[in-house]
Amino acid sequence: MACLFCRIAAGEIPAQKLYEDELSLAFADIHPQAPTHFLVIPKQHIDSLSQATAADKGLLGHLTQVATELAAKQNLAKGFRVVINTGPDGGQTVDHLHLHVLGGRAMHWPPG
Ligand code: AMP
Ligand code: ZN
Repeated sequence: MACLFCRIAAGEIPAQKLYEDELSLAFADIHPQAPTHFLVIPKQHIDSLSQATAADKGLLGHLTQVATELAAKQNLAKGFRVVINTGPDGGQTVDHLHLHVLGGRAMHWPPG
């Protein structure tokens, strides 16, 4: 199994796990860009948001729900940012759909 995040989901590569259920996994980003920076992924492999279909609507809702609940648990009451980099121009470097959740500092806009 080549995909890095599939291997993390399978437990083949260690990660600092924050949450796990039958559909999703959340773990700390290895190169944090904010005081709090974690990723929420589906256990099922989907290349990117572009590859998600209508059949994945429920899963996408679940991932955002997990992100929101974990943000609350991580004391991000002042706010946070959820990012889904998609494709080369979107800055995606790992081709397994993932939500970035960033917080603990004020975010800037526009993003780079
Ligand atoms: P993206 O550039 O949106 O595809 O995001 C990929 C993210 O995965 C980056 O923020 C990386 O720091 C993060 N990352 C890469 N390898 C690992 C790993 N082994 N464990 C945790 N996060 C990782
Ligand atoms: Zn994968």
